[in-house]
Amino acid sequence: MIFLKTDEEIELMREANRLVGMTQGELAKHIKPGITTLSLDKIAEEFIRDHGAIPSFLGYNGFPYSLCISVNENVVHGFPSDYVLKDGDIISVDCGTEKNGFCGDSAYTFCVGEVSEEVKSLLRTTKESLYLGIEKAIAGNRVGDIGDAVQTYCEKRGYSVVRELVGHGIGRKMHESPEVPNYGKRGTGPLLKKGMCIAIEPMINMGSKNVVFESDGWTVRTRDRKPSAHFEHTVAIREGKADILSTFEYVEAILGDKAI
Ligand code: MG
Ligand code: MG
Repeated sequence: MIFLKTDEEIELMREANRLVGMTQGELAKHIKPGITTLSLDKIAEEFIRDHGAIPSFLGYNGFPYSLCISVNENVVHGFPSDYVLKDGDIISVDCGTEKNGFCGDSAYTFCVGEVSEEVKSLLRTTKESLYLGIEKAIAGNRVGDIGDAVQTYCEKRGYSVVRELVGHGIGRKMHESPEVPNYGKRGTGPLLKKGMCIAIEPMINMGSKNVVFESDGWTVRTRDRKPSAHFEHTVAIREGKADILSTFEYVEAILGDKAI
């Protein structure tokens, strides 16, 4: 069942998503060589609670942390840990909040210190593909139009699209229908209607598309251990132009000209 949101509900979702963006902005100040990913989790949890919200990942199907932090070859759902970030790493920080009964969900892949041009180009392409997908997220299009836009763009640049994990509807629950794959065919899949809210989240690999599920039951990594990038926005479907509810503006204000 796909839930359509009213304008009032969409504004509440914007608030939850803005807090996600603010939390990522706070984290951007701390993401440097020498910090553990677990300390980032603590910063995020405190920041979210201080702003009157709940970190929605914590306890979700038993997930034990507030953030999913996935370093280098880890694609998504990584556990914050005592791993110390080092120069040249990339980390996907996926953050979710629940505020006023609605959920926010967004992810950003950060560079730690100096990252190789090759890896930066993977990040840039992944982020650009997110916005190309968002351009297709308008009333009257179909879910497959989004996946086609992401897949075509990334594969043309020699990267591959993870198949096992997909974007999703979002609202009162973090995961609602429909699924929003990062691959697909134009003109196929569920019809996008005004008031639908979806999270679009390309997971793009430098090497092959194949992934492995680690024995912790959560972490997904590339089988070939080459890097993977992940960017995510929550958007509301409108006529003519998608309404992006989450924001990278806080992150980019901190990163300045170092932003991808
Ligand atoms: Mg997410
Ligand atoms: Mg998501």
